[in-house]
Amino acid sequence: MNPKQSKTDCVFCKIASGEIPSKILYRDEDVFVFPDINPLTPVHLLVVSMKHIPSLAYMADADTPLVGKMVAVANKVAREQGLADKGYRLTINSGADAGQLVPHLHMHLMGGRRLRWEH
Ligand code: AMP
Ligand code: ZN
Repeated sequence: MNPKQSKTDCVFCKIASGEIPSKILYRDEDVFVFPDINPLTPVHLLVVSMKHIPSLAYMADADTPLVGKMVAVANKVAREQGLADKGYRLTINSGADAGQLVPHLHMHLMGGRRLRWEH
């Protein structure tokens, strides 16, 4: 993951603009949601900021409401997916040790089966 990668080379910015087609499940002016191309769980969606922020480590204090909104959107979509009572996980990988591949802030919304917790 290269935090200096330009927006024009960013796969999630290209999905936001429609340059790369995806099945967008939710979109507003701040956040959009689409399926992970390599799902690890029966439900595996990506909740992504419209703003290009390379990772959590690069978010500004002014981005705090945006990250809160990402959580709120994730909760809404999780409910729509029937996960509200069954359970789900929100994950943000930040940086190399966390396995972040795409340098554009996103949350993984995962569920649909009992998840393991191994590190
Ligand atoms: P992370 O490792 O947290 O950066 O997660 C990046 C995720 O983006 C991975 O789970 C990939 O499978 C997913 N991904 C990469 N390219 C695409 C794409 N074009 N459409 C949907 N998901 C993608
Ligand atoms: Zn981007």
